[in-house]
Amino acid sequence: MLTFLKVLWKNVLDGPATEPFPFGETHTPKRLRGKAHIDASKCTGCGTCKSVCAGGAIRLQAREDGTGINFYLWHNSCSFCGYCEMFCPTGAITLSTDWSTAHLNSEKYDYKETEFIPYQHCVECDAPMPRLPESLISDLYGEPNEEIRTLYTLCPECRRKKAAMQMGV
Ligand code: SF4
Ligand code: SF4
Repeated sequence: MLTFLKVLWKNVLDGPATEPFPFGETHTPKRLRGKAHIDASKCTGCGTCKSVCAGGAIRLQAREDGTGINFYLWHNSCSFCGYCEMFCPTGAITLSTDWSTAHLNSEKYDYKETEFIPYQHCVECDAPMPRLPESLISDLYGEPNEEIRTLYTLCPECRRKKAAMQMGV
């Protein structure tokens, strides 16, 4: 009985051992896999994240007006596997440490991230084409020269024609 009272008294003096959430700050591990986030400025619309998504949480849909791609990510379908982040070639999709995903059942279809990935246009023929983010060009070439920069303003067809002309074909 005396031991019990000692423990009880010690615990009273120490105060609560549990996290004060939701009334105060709580500990979040740095490596926690929380809500996925998409940075539209880095996204090429390649669809790799959609292909590897374990939860079927990602959808890419080309706009009918041909201006680009709508990108959707449903948070309540995400299993936090992290594959999208692992396979994204440009680092456009990342998992945050935001674990607060509680929402009303009536909001489940709207609990999503929506981004627009615009196409760029070929400077020669104006054809729409997926854009190459600056971050990916830097990863590939470091500081790219003017020739490489010009190449990436052309669609594949115009690039082929330019290469053929340079070779004198
Ligand atoms: S987020 Fe990454 S993997 Fe997904 S479409 Fe954009 S560039 Fe491709
Ligand atoms: S973390 Fe996994 S389930 Fe969630 S969006 Fe990325 S690939 Fe899909």
